[in-house]
Amino acid sequence: MILIIDDSADSIRLLSSMLKDQGQILFATSGETGIRLAQQQQPTLILLDVEMSGMNGYEVCAALKNDPATQDCAVIIVTANTGMEYEIKALEAGAVDFITKPFNPPVVRARVQTHLRLQRQTTLMRQLANRDGLTGLYNRRYFDEALSLEFERHRRQRLPLAVALIDVDHFKAYNDHYGHPQGDVCLQSVAKAINTVSRRPGELVARYGGEEFAIILPHTDALGAEKYGGWLCDLVRELRIDHQYSATAPMVTISVGIASLAPPVQGSMQQLIEATDKALYQAKTDGRDRATVYQWP
Ligand code: GH3
Ligand code: MG
Ligand code: MG
Ligand code: MG
Repeated sequence: MILIIDDSADSIRLLSSMLKDQGQILFATSGETGIRLAQQQQPTLILLDVEMSGMNGYEVCAALKNDPATQDCAVIIVTANTGMEYEIKALEAGAVDFITKPFNPPVVRARVQTHLRLQRQTTLMRQLANRDGLTGLYNRRYFDEALSLEFERHRRQRLPLAVALIDVDHFKAYNDHYGHPQGDVCLQSVAKAINTVSRRPGELVARYGGEEFAIILPHTDALGAEKYGGWLCDLVRELRIDHQYSATAPMVTISVGIASLAPPVQGSMQQLIEATDKALYQAKTDGRDRATVYQWP
């Protein structure tokens, strides 16, 4: 998707006709509406006119780059000004490239094509870097980064923060009897189930390790987190994945350890994870297929 932000209808018409076979095209005739559209639609590429009334292109570009919702969109600055100083200004504002008016159609097409390709590769790389290959969930590295951000945010905003650690029960026996490939399928099913129920804003589900998953539960106190954990156990049990070799139940079950920090959030992220781990251990020793909340001393 390409977004053209330009206050001249002629420029929009010209660019649209040059680029119509390179993807869906949106346009805005002012910086302000362009920014709003970019936030809503997250275009791959933005062609941004410099000379506009209201916000000029450099200002729009800087605003796009400052907003997490739009900072990954590639911006090509479009201007009637030629000269090194304008090009530098565009790159300094965060643009990836520079196109001059009057348009040279083959140059416009070539530059746009290049940046669309680079953007697609970058998106793919970003996904690969953050995701777990087997389940498609976020990976451990991404989880750690997100938790550290959430930890600070909850401390600042004086909100409770909870983490749940999920471990599949008797999974070694599952692998031993049903085979490793079937074990993989089982992990995918469990991952999908816990991911589809976790839909509150900011909630993040990750594969934490082999048969372990972790969830960040924003704004969640101990009571809320315990309910949530019990709900996850029900959900996985009700998938009814046959497990004749489990000492807990005839189907695959999970144990959930939970820790919630009441505001003001104190201690460290490491302590929160350790508490969650202890609660998980407790859930295991108490019989598995259950959620246990860590009781802070
Ligand atoms: P518990 O109820 O105490 O959690 O017992 P468990 O058997 O689940 O625990 P254990 O840690 O002994 O075994 C975990 C197993 O998970 C062993 C390992 O081979 C398996 N596992 C880890 N990652 C994967 C994976 O990606 N695919 C498959 N199929 N198995 C995995
Ligand atoms: Mg203009
Ligand atoms: Mg384990
Ligand atoms: Mg296990």
